Amino acid sequence: MTTARRTVLKVGALGALAAASGPRVTFAAEKTNVIIIGAGLAGLNAALILADQGANVTVLEANSRVGGRAFTADHVEGHPEFGASQIGPDYARVLDVCQRLNVKLAQGSNINAPYTFSIGGKLVKKEDWAASALNKTVGPERAILPSALAGFYYKKGMPFKAPDDWLEANAAQYDIAPGFWFKKLGASDEAMRLMNEGLIAPDLWNVSLLTLLQEEARSADIFGTNKPAPNGSTSDNKDKFEAMAQRSQRVVGGTSRLPETMAKALGDRVKLRKVVASIEMTEKKVTVRCLDGTSYTADYAISAVPFRPLNRISIDPPLQGAQSEAVRHMPYANNSQIHIRLKGTPFWEQDGMDASLWTDGALTIVRQPFGYDGSRDRLAVVNTGKKGDRIDQLPPKERGEFVMREIERLRPSTKGKMEVIGVHSWPQYQFVEGCRHSYSPGQVTRFAVDMIKPHGRLHFAGEHTRRLDVGMESAMESGERAAVEVVARFA
Ligand SMILES: Cc1cc2nc3c(=O)[nH]c(=O)nc-3n(C[C@H](O)[C@H](O)[C@H](O)COP(=O)(O)OP(=O)(O)OC[C@H]3O[C@@H](n4cnc5c(N)ncnc54)[C@H](O)[C@@H]3O)c2cc1C
Repeated sequence: MTTARRTVLKVGALGALAAASGPRVTFAAEKTNVIIIGAGLAGLNAALILADQGANVTVLEANSRVGGRAFTADHVEGHPEFGASQIGPDYARVLDVCQRLNVKLAQGSNINAPYTFSIGGKLVKKEDWAASALNKTVGPERAILPSALAGFYYKKGMPFKAPDDWLEANAAQYDIAPGFWFKKLGASDEAMRLMNEGLIAPDLWNVSLLTLLQEEARSADIFGTNKPAPNGSTSDNKDKFEAMAQRSQRVVGGTSRLPETMAKALGDRVKLRKVVASIEMTEKKVTVRCLDGTSYTADYAISAVPFRPLNRISIDPPLQGAQSEAVRHMPYANNSQIHIRLKGTPFWEQDGMDASLWTDGALTIVRQPFGYDGSRDRLAVVNTGKKGDRIDQLPPKERGEFVMREIERLRPSTKGKMEVIGVHSWPQYQFVEGCRHSYSPGQVTRFAVDMIKPHGRLHFAGEHTRRLDVGMESAMESGERAAVEVVARFA
C-alpha cells in the first residue's frame, strides 16, 4: 500500500475527505440534496460527512431503529449483541467518530470462557487435544486446535503483505475455493473436515479464498493479532474471534449506542420506517419512493443497503452487466443465534470441562460470554454457514428447543439448567438477509471493481463495497468513499 493510502486509513473520515477533495465544497442550499438509503454505519457515516460539507441530506431507513447490523438486543435480558461488538485498535474512522460524538468506549469485548471440543459427540479438553485419540489430523496440525486450523493455514500461506493487495491483477489466482489452496498447503482430509465445521461461509468450496485472505490480512493488521494482547496472551492456537476479544474495545451500553448517537447528530434528517421501493433517475435528478407513499427528490442518492434487500428495490434505468449480476447473485453468509439463561449449579464445574463448546456436530459454537460484571449466567449458541441454514428451517421456538436438546446430549451436566431468552437469525432479518456478503469463487474478479461504480446518479456504500477494511470499519470506509464520490460531482 502506498504511504498516501495508509495516511488516509489513519486520519479518519473528515481527514480522508479533505485529502480527497481539497477545501470545503459550497453546496447551493436546498437544491443540492443527497438521499441516503439505509441507516447502518455506512449510510450514517456518508450522511455525517456530506452534512459536514454543507449538503442537505435525507436518510431513509426501513426499520424502526438505526444501526442495521450494529444491533444491541435491548429487548433481551442481558442486552446481548446480535451484531457487531468488537472495535479494533486500528479502526480509525469508528474511533474518530466515537471521539467526536463522545461515544464512550471500554477495553475488551465479548470475552468468552475457553472451548471444550466435541468431536463425533465425545468431549475433549483443549489441553488434551494434541494427544487425543479423537485427533485424526496429521503432523504439525495435531498441535493446532480445531477452531484455530484455518488461522494456522492462513498464516502459513498468506500471499498478501498489504490490505489492498487483494485487488491487484495477480491476486486473481486466489479467487478460487479455499479447499484447493488448503490442500496445496498440505492440509489433511481431517483438517479440511474440521475447518469446514467452523466456517461462516457455506463450506470450503463455496466461498472465494480471495475475500477470506483480504479479511485475514486486514484483521491481523487492524486488531494487532500478530502482537501480544494487553494481557500478554498471543493469538497462537486461538480462533479469530477469541484472538480479537482481548484486543478490542466495545461501546459502553452496547454497540447500538454508536449509530444512535450518529443519527442524533443528524436530527430529523434521519427518517425511520421508510421502506424504499424504487429509485428513478433522469439526467437531472433522482426520485426515491417509499412503500408508505412518500417520495423524495434529490441530485444524488447513495444506496447503503446490502445487495439482498437492494435486489427488491426497483431501479430505473436498470443496473447493467456485472453490477446487475452482483446485486442479483452476491451470496450472504449465515449467523443464527440462540441466547440462553443458565440456572443452578455451574455445569462446567460439574463435568470439569471448559464452559464454551466448539462442535463438529449440529452446532458451531456454544459460547459462554463473561458478563462485564464478571457474571457467567449466559450461553450464546452461534450457528454459522450451512449449520445456520439447517437450524433456520425450524420456527424460532423449536430452534431453541432443538439447540438445548443438542447441548444436553453433548453435555449432560447442562440438563434442566437452560432457558432460551432470545433467538435471532440474520438471513431471516428482512432488511439485511445475512450476516455479511460472501463472494463465491470467481466473483471477486467478476464483481468487485464494477459493482461499486456509480450508476447514473446512484452511488453505492455498505460493507459489501469495502476496499480495505473489515467489519464496522469497512462500513464506515464505504460510506466515506461514497460521500467523497458525491462531493467530487458537486465540486
Ligand atoms: C453477527 C455479527 C457480528 C459482527 N461482529 C462484528 C464485530 O465484532 N466487529 C466489527 O467490526 N464488525 C462486526 N460485524 C460486521 C458489522 O456489523 C457490519 O460490517 C456493519 O455493521 C455493516 O454496516 P452497513 O451499514 O454496511 O450495513 P447494515 O448495518 O446492514 O445497514 C443497512 C441498513 O439498510 C436498511 N435497509 C435495508 N433495506 C432497506 C430499504 N428497502 N429501505 C430503506 N432502508 C433499508 C437496513 O434496515 C439497515 O439499517 C458483525 C456482523 C454480524 C452480523
